[in-house]
Amino acid sequence: MSRLARSLVGGGIIAEDLEPESGVGRPRQILSAVPGARHVVGCKLTGDTAYGVVCDMFGEVKATARAALPARRPDGAVSVAETVKIVAQVVGKLARKVPPLDGIGVSVGGVVADRAIVREGTFLGWRDVDFATPLRDRTGLPVVVTNDVTALAREELWFGAGRTHSTFGLITVGAGIGFGVVREGVVVDELIDNGHLLAHAPIDTRGPRCGLGHTGCVAAYLNRDDIERHASAAAHRPVTFAGLVQARAAGDGTAAGLLDGAARALGHLAATFAGALQTTRIVLAGEDVAAIASSPAMTDVVADRLRPGPDEAQRCTLDITTAPLTFNDWARGAAVVGIQNVLGAL
Ligand SMILES: [Zn+2]
Repeated sequence: MSRLARSLVGGGIIAEDLEPESGVGRPRQILSAVPGARHVVGCKLTGDTAYGVVCDMFGEVKATARAALPARRPDGAVSVAETVKIVAQVVGKLARKVPPLDGIGVSVGGVVADRAIVREGTFLGWRDVDFATPLRDRTGLPVVVTNDVTALAREELWFGAGRTHSTFGLITVGAGIGFGVVREGVVVDELIDNGHLLAHAPIDTRGPRCGLGHTGCVAAYLNRDDIERHASAAAHRPVTFAGLVQARAAGDGTAAGLLDGAARALGHLAATFAGALQTTRIVLAGEDVAAIASSPAMTDVVADRLRPGPDEAQRCTLDITTAPLTFNDWARGAAVVGIQNVLGAL
């Protein structure tokens, strides 16, 4: 047995068995991972809630818990100290269901540095917040903090798209547009632009404006805030994304037009991302993606983008799948990062 395997067996992470029916020579040793060897909490923080799950080493969810975060203070930020306390309580609740715990992974939307510091916590109003240290001090467990889409990309690499593709892209559509990049089996931890360049790529110079004033960029069609702003302006009353989806189901043409526009933008985005990343595999996720990707407009755009010219011999296909994700699935992504951290695999 190699030294590595011996240390893994010593740590209880893998188990050894002898091959039952051995032929000639020494019986072979079979090594297999022990799923229950480690348990890690994953916690996804939205702007108002902490969603927690506890997973085993195979990423299987063993228990869930959640708690509301405190309301934003007058300065627009959610209290960090209170959030640490609440996450620690969620961890405590999960620990009582599946003891003992080996670590914590926390994911947030925005920019995270050094797997600990929330540089920009988009939905929490945080700037340069060290979230890992106080949570570690409070729980006594190793803590890793990560961008939420990066966490999903790590989860996909181990348990999803990564099983067949070493390079793939992840696009999330919900409160904001997010990107996960996996190249040759390596997850890009920090995007250089937090996805800004792709999110504001132009689609139609006669299109609607995004919040930054671009005409007809991806975000102008696809970003939830922008869709709601355009829908509200058209209806002369506040319209939410959920309301828009209901209106489409009831036969509202304006709602269908806006959602088809979002679907076309998502098709363009997926095709452009695949081309830039040189992968045939794109995973779509996020709260709003199912309602948008269900429009045939998305597949039509992708088919049109793939259509070869008369002299082009090279054919390409794209494998685009939708994984509508609940917040517990996001928390599972954070747990997978926690598992990788505990195993020293980050
Ligand atoms: Zn824009």
